[in-house]
Amino acid sequence: MNKIQMVDLKAQYNQIKSDVDTAIQEVIDKTAFINGPDVGAFAEELQKYLDVKHVIPCANGTDALQIAMMALGFKPGDEVITASFTYVATAEVIALLGLVPVLVDVHPDTFNLDIRAVEAAITDKTVAIVPVHLFGQCAHMEPLMAVANKHGLHVIEDTAQALGSQYTFSDGRKAFAGTMGSIGATSFFPSKNLGCYGDGGALFTNNDEYAAAMRMIANHGQRVRYYHDSIGVNSRLDTIQAAILRIKLRHLDAYSSARRSLADAYDRAFAEFSQLITPFRSPFSVHVFHQYTLRCTGVSRDILKEHLESKGIPAMIYYPVPLHMQKAYTDPRYKQGDFPVTEMLCAQVLSLPMHTEMQEDQLQHIINTVKDFLNSL
Ligand SMILES: *Cc1c(COP(=O)(O)O)cnc(C)c1O
Repeated sequence: MNKIQMVDLKAQYNQIKSDVDTAIQEVIDKTAFINGPDVGAFAEELQKYLDVKHVIPCANGTDALQIAMMALGFKPGDEVITASFTYVATAEVIALLGLVPVLVDVHPDTFNLDIRAVEAAITDKTVAIVPVHLFGQCAHMEPLMAVANKHGLHVIEDTAQALGSQYTFSDGRKAFAGTMGSIGATSFFPSKNLGCYGDGGALFTNNDEYAAAMRMIANHGQRVRYYHDSIGVNSRLDTIQAAILRIKLRHLDAYSSARRSLADAYDRAFAEFSQLITPFRSPFSVHVFHQYTLRCTGVSRDILKEHLESKGIPAMIYYPVPLHMQKAYTDPRYKQGDFPVTEMLCAQVLSLPMHTEMQEDQLQHIINTVKDFLNSL
């Protein structure tokens, strides 16, 4: 049996090696390292895939979130509502821009923003809501957009973990994660569902004005070279990364299905155990399983994790510490106990290996190890 990884990037690369190697070599042969033809071509292909008007590539997902907030013209002191249960990048850029992160709790089933808590957190300083489509499943966008529209707020979708997930509205209309709010931001970090071989990110919007502002900000605030209209940043997607992403985008649907099949197999295997809660699948969102995250309710999460690791199975805790309990984000507004669902999840969640190239013997080893452990208690 090959060594089990949380994400097996090597095994995936081996499947597409000749295409990727050729594409990288072509970029080098043309020395088109910065803004080469693959960057625009990739943006266009992703635009078609997502059925969105604009895709603006940038250097990483954190930059994407920052550029979105700069483009919408938020001012220091403006409040931005986001989830207390998320990766730090979401809150980080809010704080870096001098905006005020306002945290709200999440649903215990989807791990995504609790819409009632969002509405309760709105003040006259609120300018935006940032839903995070956590672990590969869309936040409940229809009621969220209704709240945002009612209060005249922007929605910036953090789509770093959910590229390829589709949301279904009550009238049957479907939309891809990242294309429903004012702006969507995503990451192509290697382990993301559409990952490159380094850093990368992109922004999505259907609004021409936001698109123009984001292109300008990502490019030193210039529309015409050496004429700077606003303070910007330097945030580009490398051509080599774009060339790799063009190849991987063609496989994205197959990758999502492979992730879902693996999740199905885990679900079936663990259904009989009341000590574990398998991932909830909401009726309104396709789950693309960026993570397969269990809640350990009748078993010690940390002991299970240690046991798995002793059998050669990696397992990760996303995320061990809620944002409001992080040293950098301590704030007199928040204390322990303020976000009970988030705090409970941080104590219960355990993510199992999830990727596109899981072998049958590896899967059986993971499943049997979990089962044997639970049966031995
Ligand atoms: C990965 C991630 C980001 C940041 O992406 P980078 O490309 O690493 O900067 C932001 N938000 C969430 C939820 C993420 O998972």
